[in-house]
Amino acid sequence: MDLLEYQGKSLFARIGVPVPDGRVATSPTEAQRAAEEIGGRVVVKAQVQVGGRGKAGGIKLAENPHEAHDHALAILGMDIKGHTVHKVWVESASNIKAEYYASFTLDRSAKRHLGMISAKGGVDIEEVAATEPEAVVKVHIDPVMGLTNWQATEMVYRAKLDPEAARGAIALLKKLYQAFVEFDCDLVEVNPLILTAEGNVVALDAKVALDENGFFRHPDFPALADDHFIPPVEKMAKERDLNFIKLDGDIGIIGNGAGLVMSTLDVVSLVGGEASNFLDVGGGAGADTIIAALEILMQDPSVKSVLINIFGGITRGDLVAQGIVAAFERLDLPWPVVVRLDGTNAAEGREILAGVKSAQLIPSSTMREAAERAVALAKAVV
Ligand code: GDP
Ligand code: MN
Repeated sequence: MDLLEYQGKSLFARIGVPVPDGRVATSPTEAQRAAEEIGGRVVVKAQVQVGGRGKAGGIKLAENPHEAHDHALAILGMDIKGHTVHKVWVESASNIKAEYYASFTLDRSAKRHLGMISAKGGVDIEEVAATEPEAVVKVHIDPVMGLTNWQATEMVYRAKLDPEAARGAIALLKKLYQAFVEFDCDLVEVNPLILTAEGNVVALDAKVALDENGFFRHPDFPALADDHFIPPVEKMAKERDLNFIKLDGDIGIIGNGAGLVMSTLDVVSLVGGEASNFLDVGGGAGADTIIAALEILMQDPSVKSVLINIFGGITRGDLVAQGIVAAFERLDLPWPVVVRLDGTNAAEGREILAGVKSAQLIPSSTMREAAERAVALAKAVV
């Protein structure tokens, strides 16, 4: 679960990772009051679960509470990469002397925690890693030993942070690692980590991804999702007990079983297409489930063709076929649907599908061929 910046900073503050003083506001008046309480110059920051807010105009410096009011008025309601801003974080402005980068995450292949630090912060770190890999220092951390003092020191010196930042950065890294472990995070990322004109090292941004498997240890964490943005189509899928994840392409995918759906995504990409979603109808899916799944894809304007890939085990091919037939009768499907049925009762299922007199229904005998058809059909749409 990805937290908003202010939620991440409040977790940081609990552990003692230095963060600027700030308040959440949902209206310009609240932002103004927050600025009055904080005093001096403040920064008004859009709270959305995407990066690059600065470039999108979602971060503005205010000299006084009146300006904070006006900036909040401009930022609240703003759309940043498809996310509407419902909250702003008003925080004491920092005098930035240098911007760095720091993060902790899990390196599954190494079976270790991975710490990263760079003197080139405040910018797109993926870009830095691609063009100047030596500028990003990586250290593997034994999860039992934890981040040792010498490792934190090594990180700071190898990354060549300004000498006056060294002591603060080492202390901050240790606290940040502690936050990463204690809160069961998948990721803690601070970009930028700053050195202030006063010589303090502070987390100016916070990207925290919590591991939901750890929530049994943190009864207060699930409620953090209350002000998170969930795409309406994902909400609808959840209500219908379907496992749906929005992706960036234009081929709608329906399959049974997470493994098969993931393989389907791979095959679609192998034959040159891009899936618009992951949708697992689960084991034992019948007609109603298939209709519900197709209705969900109808909410997504990016879909140009649909690929239904069913391998029957518990799921029966004839029931799925009946669902597809019913969907063609009841729904005005806006795209062609390629169907590959195999496994339990596949022959019966195919027979049922053969009865559908619609050029929009395209039966296909193998996964690869089905993917190729769906990709070609999507490409044919202008
Ligand atoms: P992001 O664009 O979503 O990653 O948001 P950040 O919180 O990282 O802010 C982007 C940039 O805004 C930072 O790299 C800083 O350069 C600038 N910024 C943010 N807060 C302050 C502040 O308190 N003072 C100054 N001078 N700049 C700030
Ligand atoms: Mn940032």
